[in-house]
Parts: sequence; structure tokens; C-alpha cells
Amino acid sequence: MSLTTYWLEHAWLGTHVEPGVALEVDAEGRIGALRTGVSSPPPGAEVLRGLTLPGLANAHSHAFHRALRGTVQVGSGTFWTWRDLMYKVAQNLTPESYFALARAVYAEMALAGITNVGEFHYVHHAPGGAAYADPNAMGEALIEAAAAAGIRITLLDTAYLSSGFGEAPNSHQLRFSDGTAEAWAERASALKPREHALIGAAIHSVRAVPAAELATVAGWAEERRAPLHVHLSEQTAENDACLAAHGRTPTQLLADHGVLGPRTTGVHNTHLTDVDIALLGGTTTGTCMCPTTERDLADGIGPATRLQHAGSPLSLGSDSHAVIDLLEEARAMELNERLRSRTRGHWTANALLSAATEDGHAALGRPDAGRLEAGALADFTTIALDSVRTAGPLPRLGAETAVFAATASDVRHTVVGGRHIVRDGHHTLVGDVPTALSESIAAVRR
Ligand SMILES: [Zn+2]
Repeated sequence: MSLTTYWLEHAWLGTHVEPGVALEVDAEGRIGALRTGVSSPPPGAEVLRGLTLPGLANAHSHAFHRALRGTVQVGSGTFWTWRDLMYKVAQNLTPESYFALARAVYAEMALAGITNVGEFHYVHHAPGGAAYADPNAMGEALIEAAAAAGIRITLLDTAYLSSGFGEAPNSHQLRFSDGTAEAWAERASALKPREHALIGAAIHSVRAVPAAELATVAGWAEERRAPLHVHLSEQTAENDACLAAHGRTPTQLLADHGVLGPRTTGVHNTHLTDVDIALLGGTTTGTCMCPTTERDLADGIGPATRLQHAGSPLSLGSDSHAVIDLLEEARAMELNERLRSRTRGHWTANALLSAATEDGHAALGRPDAGRLEAGALADFTTIALDSVRTAGPLPRLGAETAVFAATASDVRHTVVGGRHIVRDGHHTLVGDVPTALSESIAAVRR
């Protein structure tokens, strides 16, 4: 493989924006060398005009929720009425239709500068709950879809065993359940990592995994040093039901069963007590905020600043894909806090970009991604600084421009493992992504 050199007109190096950077990709798809002060492109270099960031990490995704975008916005309702509609789409998924849909959704992510997705995957079985011939056919479809779209994936294979505390799965949820945590572990153990794909675990929620089975899932992740994610206190109803069943909050229940720790990420972490925040921070359990979903579903605003100050690293996810735009997620986290507190400046643009890059990749089990430095994975994305949204600010304010002015529409290039996946706003593998989306969504909304 011939070595590729990229010349970055401007590069965000974690603390500041550097003009004129030459970046060499080695044979392993990593950054071999990075030179600053290179004022013009070296001969033969691929030129990336604009601001290059490390690839963005989408730490929380349910790919099939993309089929609901724009179709569940009429009338009133809550998270729970939205969930009924979401289950109807889930019923129509097959390994083939899910591959096509996820390939299109992951291509949309690549167009938005995302190089790595954490797929919180729980639609494991055929309708009615029968296993496919390959019990991991659905998970394999997602892994293949990420490869077809040119991005990395951490498949967070999700244990989903019950409908509520002491309640069997309902008819929709039979597809999600392996029956017991032991059976979940046996199936998940058959999934093998590959270069673009890591295997992690997830506990859907304290509603969906009985307390006595939590330790089995946590132990599986511990044995493999794998990421472990869990939906946590997104809804007050979950907290109320958990208190009624166990006399403690979901966070305290997870702590009692060994689920918290530095490889664990709580997703949402919206409705927490002071004790919960201290437990999450004290164990360096991560927090994945999904602000565009949380506002879409009327969840509430989670205590992200307090969690971070307590010791919980922050990552970001597009979750239901009402929007796929990690820059918007980063901006929304800060702006939500401004609305709540009526003060500005809770995070710097650098800190918000760290959540969208390095800390997000770490939450997905890739501590070697998310930085433009020698040895890191050669995953990066370039934002235009000359669009109608981004023209004007000085380039040295590129981080602020990226977070507070740019959108996914400003992504020009996305490179994964040194390979140019998005070039000048065009997906080099999938081509016509809007058509891929509309056809694959039509197939599952019949
Ligand atoms: Zn979710």
C-alpha cells in the first residue's frame, strides 16, 4: 500500500488551531507523522481545505430509529407514545432490510464527519422471538453495514430480557430477548471483532434486565475489557418503578451489582440524585448525552456539568437520529445548560470538541482514536470555513466556528484509516445516500 500524505489547511490539535499541517498515513492506517509549519501542500499531497478535526464519535445510535425521522412530529404525546411507533418499525426489520437501512444511515453519518459509531443493538431475533439460523444475523448485518459505509463500529450487543420490573417481554419485545443473561452472553460471545468493528455489551436499562442478572452482563464485559453501556434514568417513570421495586435509584442498583466503572457509560443520565452523581463521578463511569434526542422526546436536561465536575467523562450520541449532526449535539449540550442556568460559557469549544472526538472514541473502546497525532488512527474530517454558515471568523477561531456555527452540511471530507470515504461532500462508497435512505426506509415502513 502506498503511503498517503494529506495537507491540512488548518488542523485542530486539541488545544488550538494550527495552520499548514502535513499528515502522513502509514501502512496500518494510522497517522505515521505529523508536521506543522508546512505553509503549502507538499508535492503529491491530498489537499484538505478548511478545518480538519479528528473523526467524530457517535457514541449512541439505534440505526433503525432513522426510519421515524419527520414522521412522529404530529400531535402531542410522550416518550412512551413515541416508543409504540418505534416498535412498529422494529417489527419489519430483517437482516437484509436492516443491512440496507443501516448502510444508508452510517453513510449519512460519514457525510456528517462521523468515523465511529456505537450501535446499541437489541433487535436480535425474528418476530416472535425465534433465533435466526445465525443467531447473530442482525448484529452481523450492522457490522457489514458499517464496513459498506466505510466507518468503524462498536457493536454494543444489548441484553433486553424484561418489559419492566418483574414483567415478561411484551409481544414486540420478544425479538429483543434471549430469555436469560446467560443465554445473552452465549450468543454475544459468538460475535468476533474485526479491524473496523469492536464488540461491546449493553444493558438496555434497569427496566429490561432483572437485578439478579445485571452482574452476568457486567462480568462478560469485564472479562473482555469491553465497553459496557446502559440507558440510565432517561425517564422519571423508570426511577419511580425502580424505587418501588428495589428501594433504590437505577444508578444505585447498578452500583450494587458491579455495573459502574471506567469502561461503563450511562446514556442520558437525565434524572439523577446528588448521590447518583457522586456514584457515577466517583467510579469514573462515563456519561453519553444525546441532546437532540432528549429535546425531541421531551426527556429533560441532564446534569452534564455536574457529572463532569464529579469525574464522569462526557461523550455525545445522536441516539434516535432525529438529527445526525455531532456538532449540533455538542452545541446543544452547552446551549441547554445556558437556558437552564441563564449564564454562558459552561464548556469551551475545545472541551465540546473533545467530547465529540477523543472522549467519545474512548467510550467506544478506542482510546487510540480522536486525536491528530502520530500513532493515532488516521480518522479525520474536514469542515468548510468558507460556507454561508462558517465564512467570517478568523481561522484561529476554527474550534468555535465548528461548534457554534457549522453544521453537518459543512463537512467536506471524511477519512477513515487513511481512506477517503467522503470527498467534497460526496460519499465515495455509497454514492447517492439520499436515495439509499429513502429506499431502505420505505422497505421497513410498509
Ligand atoms: Zn438509546
